[in-house]
Amino acid sequence: MRWIVGLLVTFGALGVAGRRGWWIVRLVRSGQPDTRRWRGWGPVARAEVTEVAGQRKLLRWTVPGVAHFVTMWGFTVLLITVVEAYGALFSRTFHVPFIGREPWLAFVEDLFAVGVLAALLVFAVIRLRQSPARRERESRFYGSHTGAAWLVLAMIGAVILTLLGYRAAQYSTGDFPFGSTRWAFATRALATVMSPWGRGANSVLETVLLLANVTVIMGFLVVVAYSKHLHIAAAPFNVAFARRPRALGPLATTPHMNPEELSEDSTFGVGTIGEFSWKQLLDLVTCTECGRCQSVCPAWTTGKPLSPKLLVMGLRDSLFASADQLLNSNGESAALVPNVIDPDVLWSCTTCGACVEQCPVDIEHVDAIVDMRRHQVLMESEFPSEAALFLRNLENQGDPWGLGASQRLAWTEGLDFDVPVIDGRIPDDVEYLYWIGCAGALDDRGRAQVQSTARVLHRAGVSFAVLGPKERCTGDPARRMGNEYLFQEMARANIETLDSAGVKKIVASCAHCFNTLANEYPELGGHYELVHHSELLAHLLSTGRLSTGSSTSSVTFHDPCYLGRHNRKFDEPRAVIEASGASSTEMARSREQSFCCGAGGARMWMEESLGTRVNITRAREALATGADTVAAACPFCLIMLDDAVKSEGREDVSVLDIAQVIERSLSEP
Ligand code: SF4
Ligand code: SF4
Repeated sequence: MRWIVGLLVTFGALGVAGRRGWWIVRLVRSGQPDTRRWRGWGPVARAEVTEVAGQRKLLRWTVPGVAHFVTMWGFTVLLITVVEAYGALFSRTFHVPFIGREPWLAFVEDLFAVGVLAALLVFAVIRLRQSPARRERESRFYGSHTGAAWLVLAMIGAVILTLLGYRAAQYSTGDFPFGSTRWAFATRALATVMSPWGRGANSVLETVLLLANVTVIMGFLVVVAYSKHLHIAAAPFNVAFARRPRALGPLATTPHMNPEELSEDSTFGVGTIGEFSWKQLLDLVTCTECGRCQSVCPAWTTGKPLSPKLLVMGLRDSLFASADQLLNSNGESAALVPNVIDPDVLWSCTTCGACVEQCPVDIEHVDAIVDMRRHQVLMESEFPSEAALFLRNLENQGDPWGLGASQRLAWTEGLDFDVPVIDGRIPDDVEYLYWIGCAGALDDRGRAQVQSTARVLHRAGVSFAVLGPKERCTGDPARRMGNEYLFQEMARANIETLDSAGVKKIVASCAHCFNTLANEYPELGGHYELVHHSELLAHLLSTGRLSTGSSTSSVTFHDPCYLGRHNRKFDEPRAVIEASGASSTEMARSREQSFCCGAGGARMWMEESLGTRVNITRAREALATGADTVAAACPFCLIMLDDAVKSEGREDVSVLDIAQVIERSLSEP
């Protein structure tokens, strides 16, 4: 009669879990349409193989990654034991057809069972070492549902122990499908303890442990449906519909902002949970609360209230709390800011993308944050007061500092050659438009960077011209701030200028300008061939058009977020530094794991009054390398790091652009 108990438990659990699962599916489907999510079977298959089956991102963190890999694959392989368990409910001598008596299968099952137990031990140690009660904000599990996590670890342990237990009882009674094989090493070892208890006792134990195994598996199914372990079911879908190759570079959406198409009813951004797209809602229910994003977030790790994990968890709670409104149109959802997301949380983000880079289930935090910012700026006119000035400057003067077009060519003073300024169309014999950027044109340290870049390009015989007073801010800070309207206005004006000048190739030395021109202008009709100056300099050096001298300097390179993580240009700036002859040393966090300078997301023009300053944290990391030069490849980073190095009292350390590093080492022709 044990099959009756087993089936009752199973149908009961399937009913509870199924009901919850369907409720979640309906909630996700209540999100706004997003028709650009399907990218074909090929990319989806590749993503499933690398991200889900291969656990690529998880394995970057070796110990927890391997433990998760073993658990995930252990559970997958052990699904066959679930078939065996249900078969055994009906017949004590059941075996899986064809392979069910093969000794190798007994070995594989035991191996993975023991592997999962070992992985659980690793997880337990990690959780104890990372205990939020002890380490507070430093723990990546701070704010996660740790009780539920321990419950799940205990349940997985119970699944494996009851599995080995009933197999050992079967072994002792002679009902083990694999006979008395030695290959079932764990089962056999346990059976040596249990066999002396006699056949009768083992027969009873087999029933008890088998039913316990089925009950724990079904209990686990229910817990999965009601906890963060929902990611087991949701992650493959979230990965399938994620932005590829990653949710970095351009923002996900470019809303229609044409004034002629707008009406009083037009809404922008995300103000309530129901205004997120279905994919963004799927993100929320997929979060595993692993805290990888939190542990790398420059805002969180410098004491700000923003944690990408807690942001996602808060939005998920809001989603579940708003179910009645979303599914039954019963009332209105609460405004997300400030009810669910504190304004300080929203405005602390530098859009550095470290969270997106780390998230093992491909959650797209930056897009969600900017969507909420768009609502705050465009619908509520609510944003940090100090940001109003730079937005006004952008609108009126075309640059965040409000210095105006007349200052755009000041950086050319002192150069010993003329920089052609485009008047009309770009001359046929000029290869590149050099996009100077606001920081390059208007800030002293930015000017030093573009002067150096211009001198090096001139020396290598690269022909370039500039727009001079016709160049305006690309609109990047307005866009990251949430002012999509202003961004598109500025972008359209720039595109008109570039197109009427017949510009085809652009070199940019600002990582933010590069990202916007290369990745975001195409959506608005601006299509250009973009190179970052690190790429161009690396090319000139590798082809011998630029020669170098020698250098006794030691350089550490800071990867600008919008050059590295957002645009995957890690090697080019390093190639330039290497060519300079300087010795280079890496910071503790570099390349994909680089730590932000604190300027992105329009943070450059906002007060940083909470916690420690992001740029100080990064500068300390740079200074810890002992290098005499901190190099970057973006004027925003240069300004932030230069300020920080000086405030650390290290006037002996230079903060230079890679162009300045190479110029310093240039041999006389
Ligand atoms: S983009 Fe950077 S600052 Fe913003 S939440 Fe992610 S890690 Fe934190
Ligand atoms: S958002 Fe991603 S990285 Fe952050 S806690 Fe959730 S699953 Fe982990």
